[in-house]
Amino acid sequence: MNHDEHHLPLVIIFSRSNEISSSARSAVYQASKDPNGWRLAIFHLGGRSFEEPLRAQIPPSTHIDIFAEETFGTKGAYKTVAKALGDLEESFLLMGCDSDSQRFAVEFSSQLGGKILTNAYTFDGTSIVVAKGNRSRMEAQAIEYPSVAIFNPSPIATSRTYSSAGKQLAYESAEEEVIAIASPKSDAPAELSDAPFVLCAGGGVSDLATWNELTDLAGLLGATLGATRVLTDRGWAPNELQIGATGQGISPKVYFTFGVSGATQHLSNVEIPDKVISVNTDPACPMIAVSSLAVISDAASVAVELLRLIKEDDNAK
Ligand SMILES: Cc1cc2nc3c(=O)[nH]c(=O)nc-3n(C[C@H](O)[C@H](O)[C@H](O)COP(=O)(O)OP(=O)(O)OC[C@H]3O[C@@H](n4cnc5c(N)ncnc54)[C@H](O)[C@@H]3O)c2cc1C
Repeated sequence: MNHDEHHLPLVIIFSRSNEISSSARSAVYQASKDPNGWRLAIFHLGGRSFEEPLRAQIPPSTHIDIFAEETFGTKGAYKTVAKALGDLEESFLLMGCDSDSQRFAVEFSSQLGGKILTNAYTFDGTSIVVAKGNRSRMEAQAIEYPSVAIFNPSPIATSRTYSSAGKQLAYESAEEEVIAIASPKSDAPAELSDAPFVLCAGGGVSDLATWNELTDLAGLLGATLGATRVLTDRGWAPNELQIGATGQGISPKVYFTFGVSGATQHLSNVEIPDKVISVNTDPACPMIAVSSLAVISDAASVAVELLRLIKEDDNAK
């Protein structure tokens, strides 16, 4: 590999199942905008059926390294990747915000002293735009070598406008989303830890479109958005939105949940208020047991219906 190739942006994807995260797709899309080219390395830790559709979306000339690393453990991510890819000392890496990528980024920075840019949003080959200030504003930064950018396709999770409701942040629609989040609401909700009204999404939210709808709903209701570990593990929600034993503690006045089971590790860091509204298909789950209003229904349908009602109400004004 010559010197110039070291400076080509390198996207690293870890796939644990048959899918890759939306944030990893976002990293691929951003790297593909570099006019000088880019490289892609895929570490297969599970199924690989995502690979063909992904290849169809990127230029055929893209250099792709594929590694099957079945023994990838919870430690040593850096060594595994560095062994496979060689010298990373002058690299600029783009990754998703899934847990494998974040773990690698931490090891990368401790081994090489490289910088980690979290909440990265767009990249054009020379500069990168990241969300700053509790994700309330965007800032462009020059690329430094070595460094790793962790892409989050919805870095301003609670501030998207209604016009983007229901739109799945797909590879093709990333440009549109830039416009949608360019003017975040000024009345951004409070930090989770002192938020009076928290809307939390859990594993019962089974598709990214519904997660996006819930971020819109939280913004429209003035609620602060949170998530269970299931959603942070999927890479849909950034880690700082996780509520629970290994996330943030909350003590809201109103807690509104969608598809949250109410597992001990989640509820142990929730000061349960008088007003708990829960949408869940299982009437016997612990979350419903602590709720003052139980909505036994599909989370996606309830989210769509609430957005429709709010829009109808807005139009009537
Ligand atoms: C050491 C450790 C630390 C942990 N720390 C945390 C933590 O900080 N925070 C945290 O949240 N978890 C944490 N966990 C994980 C925790 O144990 C649970 O696995 C997790 O909270 C479950 O999240 P969930 O309720 O969103 O998902 P699931 O357990 O998958 O539950 C999904 C719920 O959605 C319902 N549902 C399914 N389909 C639908 C639908 N269509 N519409 C509506 N509802 C539906 C189901 O009935 C179910 O109640 C930790 C675990 C460990 C071991």
